[in-house]
Amino acid sequence: MNKPLMNKPLMNNPIMSNPIMNTSMNTPIHRPVNTLRVAGFLDHSVVNGEGLRSVIFLSGCFHNCPGCHNEALQDFNYGETLPIPKLMHRIQKNAPITSGVTLSGGEPFEQVEGLSILLKQLKACNLSVWVYTGYVYEELAADPLRASLLSNIDVLVDGRYIEALRDETLKFRGSSNQRILKLEAGKIAALLHDSTHPLKKSI
Ligand code: SF4
Repeated sequence: MNKPLMNKPLMNNPIMSNPIMNTSMNTPIHRPVNTLRVAGFLDHSVVNGEGLRSVIFLSGCFHNCPGCHNEALQDFNYGETLPIPKLMHRIQKNAPITSGVTLSGGEPFEQVEGLSILLKQLKACNLSVWVYTGYVYEELAADPLRASLLSNIDVLVDGRYIEALRDETLKFRGSSNQRILKLEAGKIAALLHDSTHPLKKSI
């Protein structure tokens, strides 16, 4: 993934209000159950997946891609810890005019516990879910914990951002190695990008 973060954190005083964070090390922090560490929230985005979407940027990433546009979000302590019900409330408020929800980062799959809860609730509301990840699908599918989340995702945009493959004509992707995968029951059902013609916008 490498989409620029286009808003400020969701709440005020994101750092100082969280007593459990550790700003000296970029390590995942232990959060209360039913929360996520959130770097930002867009209510109405048209550049993070198909249609008008709510977008949540989750904090923390280990991939360290050279040229990352969201470098600040690599820090697991960036942003604020928010209760998932609060996120769901904001998503549902947007739902009448949005096509669904996109989860980006950072690396969403570094917050498996909270991400799992959020994904189940999004699917229970019958919302379309896109997830951007620096992992490739095959890495996620080989990891039992992360693989269990795939069944609640409709579209996975996968792969590290590779600066040498950056192409601004690509829709919803930063570099041409990244794929847009339609998932069904956690399996790849279709490729939504055009792998044979990387300059062609296939969606
Ligand atoms: S996957 Fe790469 S581009 Fe995306 S946030 Fe992590 S380091 Fe940055």
